[in-house]
Amino acid sequence: EIKNVNENYFGAYGSFGIHREMLSDKVRMDAYRGALFNNPCLMNQASILDVGCGTGILSLFAAQAGASRVIAVEASVKMASVATQIAKDNGLLSEGTEKGDEKQCYGKIKVVQCMVEELDQHIQVPPHSIDVLVSEWMGYCLLYESMLSSVLYARDHWLKPGGAILPDTATIFGAGFGRGGTSIPFWENVYGFNMSCISKEVVEDASRIPIVDIVDSQDIITESAVLQSFDLATMKPDEMDFTASFELKLRSDFQGDSTASTSGIWCYGIVLWFETGFTSRFCKEMPTVLSTSPYSPKTHWSQTILTFREPIVMQSDKSIPDSAASVGTEEPPAVRIRSRISIARSSAHRSIDISMETTGISMD
Ligand code: SAH
Repeated sequence: EIKNVNENYFGAYGSFGIHREMLSDKVRMDAYRGALFNNPCLMNQASILDVGCGTGILSLFAAQAGASRVIAVEASVKMASVATQIAKDNGLLSEGTEKGDEKQCYGKIKVVQCMVEELDQHIQVPPHSIDVLVSEWMGYCLLYESMLSSVLYARDHWLKPGGAILPDTATIFGAGFGRGGTSIPFWENVYGFNMSCISKEVVEDASRIPIVDIVDSQDIITESAVLQSFDLATMKPDEMDFTASFELKLRSDFQGDSTASTSGIWCYGIVLWFETGFTSRFCKEMPTVLSTSPYSPKTHWSQTILTFREPIVMQSDKSIPDSAASVGTEEPPAVRIRSRISIARSSAHRSIDISMETTGISMD
């Protein structure tokens, strides 16, 4: 069954639309290009392993940045052949120039079509001989369809002791969102008609299945919290499954919920995003960060939206005195939200299971 899942996965990467989407993601591209081009001490004369090269873009950058040898590994048959063609068309393919003079060989790319886990069967790469391992392995919510375990496998087999891994850190963040982060306002007024009976079902569905979409930073109502930080240079594959407990306070600079029809501020769920760091540990000359935060320019990863079954009130409207207190059954506003989120790879495929338990804390 795992084989089938992989066939579908690598089949999908053989279609060019995905690659166009990734190559058009300026935030993503600028981060990787910056890391590779603005750190000449790291890249000059280095041997590079590009795990999952796709079109080969990161290998092309690396070769241009002065690498002495670039091994570009790609499992998709289609993309491996395309990457070979592209490297050739841009004068950066190693094949055929091996016998040429030293300068000709300099900075050339070798494309290998295989799972990186099977690299040894295809090409001779001495153990722990690679200076820099580069990969763009991140999925939605960092870990969805993630190939991180393949990157760690490559690290453990071919990276020199103390060698660089780009990026070298990854962090998952979360924050509470208000009514504007849901589709409730949309369904309330569709060309003047009230369709809010639909939003009940939509919210119900969203409370079971996370949604990948852009969240406007104005709809974030709490401070942000770190759920989990990964050190790619040292982490073990089993750290990919984790449980994070954290608390969220109302954002001190929150402007108020412009979409609210009911009084007060309500938290409808938690939005997740990630950042990966190309830190000064390896990118000594110019470190950089790739952020998929709602406070940063948007990327093709968007954000991941986890919706509560029932919203949590965080502030009742002060302009209507005792509005909450007058209704005996209503809960007092929460001073903060306490949440526990578990993320785990699901057994047979590349998806992940996310579970969330959240309560409003009304007193300190
Ligand atoms: N590096 C490219 C493509 C990133 S997408 C870029 O930045 O644009 C990730 C690529 O990794 C896909 O093309 C996928 O087919 C490949 N891939 C995923 N797991 C792999 C593995 N274990 N071995 C080799 N290639 C893999």
